[in-house]
Amino acid sequence: MIGITYYRHKCIGCRACAEHAPQRWRMSKKDGKAVLLEGVQKGKVYNVEVHPEELESNETAARTCPENCIIIRQH
Ligand code: SF4
Repeated sequence: MIGITYYRHKCIGCRACAEHAPQRWRMSKKDGKAVLLEGVQKGKVYNVEVHPEELESNETAARTCPENCIIIRQH
């Protein structure tokens, strides 16, 4: 599985993640920040485990995030 960790408080709402990995990211209409779909909140951080087929798109999202809000782990 692939682990995605999201530091939501750092998000500036640039939309890059939602464009590159729309199956996993949406933009919130409420505060304009990205939402990690199915992410479980723990303090300031959101985590989710996803199928390896989502690796490529989420790696692109992580690479293009200007605030480095998104961390991908393979295990
Ligand atoms: S790419 Fe990063 S800064 Fe931009 S919306 Fe997504 S999480 Fe926020």
